[in-house]
Amino acid sequence: MKDSITLHPKYGLNPTLATCFYCGKETGEIALLGNGYKDEAPRNLCVSLEPCAECKEKFKDYVLCIEAEGDESSPPLPSGRWLALRKHCFKSPPNDGICFMSHELFMTLYHQVQSAA
Ligand SMILES: [Zn+2]
Repeated sequence: MKDSITLHPKYGLNPTLATCFYCGKETGEIALLGNGYKDEAPRNLCVSLEPCAECKEKFKDYVLCIEAEGDESSPPLPSGRWLALRKHCFKSPPNDGICFMSHELFMTLYHQVQSAA
């Protein structure tokens, strides 16, 4: 079952306070990791790439570009680095306002932004 949770044998629901990937603040949500997390869940953990309400408002005119590894055969693995580009820089900005970039593309954009500043 997709939305079911398997209890951790030692930590049960294994809860953590969700934090925002972009600003690092707590989102106010409690994530129940259960046995999906191998040890006791830390007090705070980033469990989603969805921006918190504050970041969503702050970056509503931007696309959040996340540096990630991986290919089409596996889910992207974010490095933790990201940048925000105005939506008008994109021919067709992604609906959810988030896109993943390879290390090479990310660094190319990063250096272009640096030299333009
Ligand atoms: Zn945030």
